[in-house]
Amino acid sequence: MAPPEEFSRPPTKDFNVAVVGGGIAGLTVTLQLLQQGVRTTLYEQARQFGEIGAGVSFGPNALRAMSLISPHVRNAFEAQATFNQSEANKGVWFDFRYGESCDGKHTAGDLIYRSECDGGQTSIKRADFLDELVKLLPDGIAQFRKRCVDYDKDGKCVLLRFEDGTTARHDAVIACDGIKSRLRRVLLGNNDPAAKAVFSGKCAYRGLIPMEDVKALLGDELAGNSQMYLGRRGHILTFSVAKGKFMNVVAMRARDEWTSDEWVVSVDKEEMQAEFDGWSDQARQIIRMVQTPDIWALFDHPPSHTYFSGRVCLLGDAAHASTPHKGSGAGMAIEDAYIMGNLLGSIQSANQIEQAFSVFNSLRKERSQRLVTDSRETGQVYQLEMSDDPAWIADFISKRMGWVWNHDLEEELETGREMLRTKGEQKRDT
Ligand SMILES: Cc1cc2nc3c(=O)[nH]c(=O)nc-3n(C[C@H](O)[C@H](O)[C@H](O)COP(=O)(O)OP(=O)(O)OC[C@H]3O[C@@H](n4cnc5c(N)ncnc54)[C@H](O)[C@@H]3O)c2cc1C
Repeated sequence: MAPPEEFSRPPTKDFNVAVVGGGIAGLTVTLQLLQQGVRTTLYEQARQFGEIGAGVSFGPNALRAMSLISPHVRNAFEAQATFNQSEANKGVWFDFRYGESCDGKHTAGDLIYRSECDGGQTSIKRADFLDELVKLLPDGIAQFRKRCVDYDKDGKCVLLRFEDGTTARHDAVIACDGIKSRLRRVLLGNNDPAAKAVFSGKCAYRGLIPMEDVKALLGDELAGNSQMYLGRRGHILTFSVAKGKFMNVVAMRARDEWTSDEWVVSVDKEEMQAEFDGWSDQARQIIRMVQTPDIWALFDHPPSHTYFSGRVCLLGDAAHASTPHKGSGAGMAIEDAYIMGNLLGSIQSANQIEQAFSVFNSLRKERSQRLVTDSRETGQVYQLEMSDDPAWIADFISKRMGWVWNHDLEEELETGREMLRTKGEQKRDT
């Protein structure tokens, strides 16, 4: 099927843009730019899109951002998404429970707090979502096996250098090359303390259990609907994936350090089980059923003083990679894509690009960096590092998702357009 007409419009702007990295950030910003009549080329290092198979969840803010970019993007998500299995839990994000008794102070399994939001818990395999997004992309926009290793200023333009020895010249570059971003290092300089991601002190064991097996153990309610089991120095998330065929298990543990160069490594089941000794029978049974687990070291970015320099701007994880404890990193990238695409769509010529990047920086830096710090703190709360008191935990959780979920992105864009107009007038006056 041919991509929708809205992404194949002839370019109407006097400048072109390179997007480096074809993850969720790179693809959504490319789609938004194409709609705005910006000539765009996407460079991806891999042979094809979506080779990493992890799952992601999206909150209401992310779902709204998808719809704002295009109903086709929202449909791309809906086509492959999995929700809580029972009708009664459709609006539930997570039921928070104790996963251990904390030396007999609490009853493992007891509900601490039910967190609800529009749409409830959602999950999608990153590769499935990317596959759907790629169907919207017209031919000739993406180039593969293009690992960008450096860039230079070339007059007013940017010259990208690729590992294969080739170069490409563009009026502007949006770096969407993820948490290990090469372009972030070039933009900030290798010696900047924010140039590279740092270990967050948490790891995540991940694995799947066939839903039929886990239903026999836990019953339909707990197996098919999202649960979070909290304990000391650990917490376990379970939710259904693959349209309810599997239960996904993400078992987080605190760790003092991570020494391997690899961030994702296979582990044997015994090692994973030993980490949850002393937890409730139910929690240990879940852990025991996980087949072929792997462990992910969770890194995040120290706050960078800027997201742009000249005509290069960071977006998505390249700008603000966070830990996953608020399930919002990819959603923040989609918000970025909507704002960036529309700001560049509001200008006509290349000499306004830096103004648009400067406005993007002003609009997005505080909100996205708040996610990074808030997410770290949330991980500590889920591992009972602040308090194990149920009322305290419930109060914390009830107050910490609203600012992410209830954000008015259209209002933010309107503010940005006004800032662009003011900058344009100031430039004319000088
Ligand atoms: C365990 C875990 C669980 C998570 N759960 C959630 C969740 O539930 N909800 C949520 O919203 N977020 C979640 N996140 C965060 C989410 O995965 C990221 O925020 C999101 O994927 C970032 O998208 P991105 O496109 O910015 O980066 P990436 O997905 O990393 O994409 C970067 C792309 O750039 C390409 N690339 C890299 N370097 C180069 C280069 N030099 N040249 C060319 N191409 C390059 C890569 O191949 C890749 O395709 C989770 C993260 C982790 C680690």
